[in-house]
Amino acid sequence: MVKPAGWVVDMRHYIDEDTADLPEVIPERVLSLAIFFGAIVAWVTDHLPEGNEHTNVPCRRSPGRRRCRGDIIAQLDRSSGYIVWECPRCGDHGMIHGWEDSLWNRDVGPHRCPTVPPSTARH
Ligand SMILES: [Zn+2]
Repeated sequence: MVKPAGWVVDMRHYIDEDTADLPEVIPERVLSLAIFFGAIVAWVTDHLPEGNEHTNVPCRRSPGRRRCRGDIIAQLDRSSGYIVWECPRCGDHGMIHGWEDSLWNRDVGPHRCPTVPPSTARH
């Protein structure tokens, strides 16, 4: 099932246009892939701009029916805009695009608004 070039996925394929969320009806296999790739996107965008390639996302493969115990390594390739990931244990790897407007993008950009505004009130 693994293509020689690895997985190349577009996160927009997993999103229902009407709800901007995962479709109500989605095959279990597709759903588990969407969650896997979404978790990678969430991790990478959550750690921008510095980046932290050691994600907390476990590898989803089970070669020889034994669950791979690798954790996914992922980073944003700024030249292509793709999120590139691989499993250091089993070598599964791929690229993700179309994640910018997805629900998994946690990068709020350079215009970060403080959630708690500094209080100037005196008591
Ligand atoms: Zn693996």
